[in-house]
Parts: sequence; C-alpha cells; structure tokens
Amino acid sequence: MSGKSEVAIVGSGVEGCAAERKLSRYQLSVVGPEGPAPTGPPCAGGIYMLGIVLREPRQIVVGRFGEHDFPAGFYLYVGSALGGLRGRINRHMRAKKLLHWHIDYLTVLNPVTSIWWAVSDERMECTWAKRVAQLPGASVPLPGFGASDCRCETHLVRLPGMPSASDMDSVAAHLHATETGFRSDQCAVRS
Ligand SMILES: [Zn+2]
Repeated sequence: MSGKSEVAIVGSGVEGCAAERKLSRYQLSVVGPEGPAPTGPPCAGGIYMLGIVLREPRQIVVGRFGEHDFPAGFYLYVGSALGGLRGRINRHMRAKKLLHWHIDYLTVLNPVTSIWWAVSDERMECTWAKRVAQLPGASVPLPGFGASDCRCETHLVRLPGMPSASDMDSVAAHLHATETGFRSDQCAVRS
C-alpha cells in the first residue's frame, strides 16, 4: 500500500463499504473488505465503463433481443452505480450470475478486460454513452442495448481496438469527479 495514512477495514458487505466511504472523505489510503481501493474501483458511487474484447465474431443471445451477431472487436459499455462502484463492477467481473442487465449476456461469456470509473454523484452515463459512440471507428452493434431506461441509441459501442488514454479523457471530460481510475488486464481470467 502507499499513501500518507493507511487503514484496513476488517469486515465485509455493506457495513464495511459504508465505513470505507466515510473514511475515504478524509483522504486516507483505504483497503476495504472487497479489495484494496488504490488498485480498484472504490466503494463510492459513480460512472463506469467496461471494456470487453471479442477476438472472434460471436452469436450471443441478449434477453428480449434474442440471438445477435457480434463482430470481433473491442466493446465498450457505459453504466452507472451511484450506490457503489466496487460492488457493481465486481459483479460485472464474475462469470456466474443471474442474467439481469443486457451486458450480463456478454460478461458471462467474455471477461471484462478493462474498467474506467469516476467517482461522482452526477448522472453522466448517457453523456458518456453518446461520447463513446463518437470515438473514431465506433459503431453500434445492437441499438437499444443497455438503454431500456433512457433515450440513448445504445450504451454499448464497438470499436476497432482499445481506445487511447486521450480518447477516454475526452469521454470523461466535464464530469465533476472527485476521483477517476483505470485498470486493464488483457490476460484476464475468469474467477
Ligand atoms: Zn442513456
């Protein structure tokens, strides 16, 4: 661990995360029950993006959309977890789960290899979704994906490859985030 002060939270579940959220306001380096905060998303709420690589084209059943063709490429999904980033992102990383959101149909078959997040209480996910759709080479693989509760064309965009850091900075601009982060593991294995 690094930082001026270090605190380890012993415990798990909601209470541990609640304690970590309080402590995080005091700029401590916090290790929570769900893993070390400096290397992963914090317990605080915010907006996130998931990167998923499809090395081969694949037919995938996605809820009410049914079976759909997904070409090979880098897929970027935008979501929000104002109730807590770490719990939500950890759920996305798991291979076994109940299929609830559209993105679950992809993440049970393909590991999430990259995550971006920003701590914020602003509902900026739709703005982010529109901006990623404007990245160079972006296309919409399945209109309506992840956008059941909003008017966006999609919250899932396909890119020819992983976006650059400057591209992602432009996506996340103008958000009043108190913290931002990025983690990528191109060799991700399923847990
Ligand atoms: Zn939206």
